[in-house]
Amino acid sequence: MQSEGNAALYLERLTRVRAQMQSQRVDALVVSVGFDLPYLTGYLAMPLERLTALVVTAESATLVVPRLEAPRVVHHTAVFNLVAWDETQDPVAITARLVGTARRVAIGDQMWSRFLVELFGHLPGREYVRSVDIVGPLRIAKDAAEIAALVAAGAAADSVAAQLQRGEIALVGRTEAQVSAEISNRLLEAGHDVVNFAIVAAGENAASPHHHAGSRVIRKGDIVLCDFGGTMNGYCSDITRCVHIGEPPAEVARAWSDLRRAQEAGVTAGRVGAACESVDAAARNVLADAGWGEYFIHRTGHGIGMEAHEEPYMVSGNSLPIASGHAFSVEPGIYVAGKWGMRLEDIVVATDSGPRRMNAAVRDLIVL
Ligand code: ZN
Ligand code: ZN
Ligand code: ZN
Repeated sequence: MQSEGNAALYLERLTRVRAQMQSQRVDALVVSVGFDLPYLTGYLAMPLERLTALVVTAESATLVVPRLEAPRVVHHTAVFNLVAWDETQDPVAITARLVGTARRVAIGDQMWSRFLVELFGHLPGREYVRSVDIVGPLRIAKDAAEIAALVAAGAAADSVAAQLQRGEIALVGRTEAQVSAEISNRLLEAGHDVVNFAIVAAGENAASPHHHAGSRVIRKGDIVLCDFGGTMNGYCSDITRCVHIGEPPAEVARAWSDLRRAQEAGVTAGRVGAACESVDAAARNVLADAGWGEYFIHRTGHGIGMEAHEEPYMVSGNSLPIASGHAFSVEPGIYVAGKWGMRLEDIVVATDSGPRRMNAAVRDLIVL
């Protein structure tokens, strides 16, 4: 993501950002930590107490960084100016000067309120809006390089899912936390740079969608839900597969076959031009018809890219039309409190030739 060769890519994105700014009459854009910054510059700032800010106007783009972080910046000189501030300087004052006389200012969602409140003091009487309306429409549609990164991350996550399904990750007699740690290590071995999460939920714990892997020991008769992902070359993976220790009871086996059909329906509905909410409806209707409606307690999916959860959300009420390059999860689940739970998740990219899955790991409820 940070090689000099990407300068053309960042310049092109800045040009599109400036077009968005112009059409929304925004005179200056200020983004701090978060993912708009690496999207526009290639630089991912650590969420420090020292201010990092990119200020974009019609004429210039300037990255303001703490002096001690400057060595980590790959400075694409054609893309942005670099201002490194010293410990005795006021970075908010520097940022305010760069905003200059801008009347309408867009601010990144992840700027610490500490800096924003100070910036308000430096720039009274301006109108403030959110940068998500400027950069969001660009980030939501992935370009070819971004899709290639999602494909690679998906394949890496798939390889760990396959290890789980082949029984290469010991389960019985170990705690969820031990298995979660092993999955995390394997995600790194498969090429991820960081692990974002590794949910392992056994038996009744699988009924809690975001269960935190804990001291519960996995034993015969359990369903084991594993939902894991990381970031590789700046882009995220996210997959959920379940295995069953010993033959599943008839009710669980029937639920899994309904869940598979629901997930398939959700993926198929992810066509260019369809509303995001229609993906949710497609999966939900299958489960409702099968009698599981009240047990599917969350939206069907979330967008994914540089962030594990981002726009667009596959949820009832989101009428946004799916466009080519939209990347999102399709992850229906069935959760029977106190008994068992299950979820099946793939990442999908909408293309002009139909929905394309980023995950190919077997979708059966594998019996181990
Ligand atoms: Zn989740
Ligand atoms: Zn997931
Ligand atoms: Zn997900």
